[in-house]
Amino acid sequence: FMTQRLLWPLTQVGEVLDLYQRAMASVRRILALLDERPVTLPGQRSPASVSGRLELRDVSAGYADGPDVLHDVSMVVPAGEVHAVVGPTGAGKSTLLRLLLRFTDPRSGQVCLDGLDLRELTWEGLRGRIGYVSQDVFLFEGTVADNIAYGRPGACLEEVVRAAVQAEAAGFIEAMPHGYDTHVGERGVTLSGGQRQRLALARAILRDPAVLILDEATSAVDNETEAAIQRSLAEVSQGRTTVMVAHRLSTVRHADRIWVLADGRVVEAGTHDELVSRPGPYAELWAVQTGTQIGTMADAEVG
Ligand code: ADP
Repeated sequence: FMTQRLLWPLTQVGEVLDLYQRAMASVRRILALLDERPVTLPGQRSPASVSGRLELRDVSAGYADGPDVLHDVSMVVPAGEVHAVVGPTGAGKSTLLRLLLRFTDPRSGQVCLDGLDLRELTWEGLRGRIGYVSQDVFLFEGTVADNIAYGRPGACLEEVVRAAVQAEAAGFIEAMPHGYDTHVGERGVTLSGGQRQRLALARAILRDPAVLILDEATSAVDNETEAAIQRSLAEVSQGRTTVMVAHRLSTVRHADRIWVLADGRVVEAGTHDELVSRPGPYAELWAVQTGTQIGTMADAEVG
């Protein structure tokens, strides 16, 4: 009995240690994730500023030892323009985004930012310039404010709130039990896809990158959320090179240029008005999605 009483505090210490070790293991996993970057290679650079011009030159890409899924794709996105990439599922839209973010490198050809091959840029030189917004954004254990400020460590609450307002996220954040102090992440409040996307947008706004890469939510968001995302996007993409993968053509109507992919190739490109005024895959998809014409395609959604 005596031994038990004497040992009891030790068991508690043991439990706390165990908890501590488990917590540290999670922290290490997160740090490993954040730190998963190629080392800077000789000759790599980090330009002081970039205009944000993107270019793909005859790019082919694929996965592991599989076949090419992008074939000789060439496209230019002039600095400050908003371009959209559309096409059916499997066309290669996500692969194209992965190339722009350098999650993957081309098998042949080049992906360039301001004329520099992405492989010539240091990790900071690239990631510091490019913001990525999707509904699969990585939220870590912490408050909403921490998660937004992750875009720029050291940002004050006022800046965080301003970014949230611009991203149309302030409304739902303020409606949460503890506002900006509400815990999110695995054990915190669960956020919807649309909410996660707007948090990612706020994070990107705070970082103020020259290039914004946007993956439109594939899951259905309600009309009000979609309208909110559209408004914030229009604002955020001002003066910033923006490339968005869109699943709903209604999203891309106002893009400066729309690239239509099919089977890993660019099959059409132009403004919405140009593309709908001539017969082709875009005009067909538009007709199907808006119901202006009874199309023969069974799919009402692109991608
Ligand atoms: P989209 O985004 O337009 O739906 P993807 O870029 O995801 O198209 O896919 C293009 C092609 O690459 C598809 O044939 C798909 O099966 C293949 N693919 C995508 N991701 C992988 C992967 N991780 N491993 C192997 N093949 C992949």
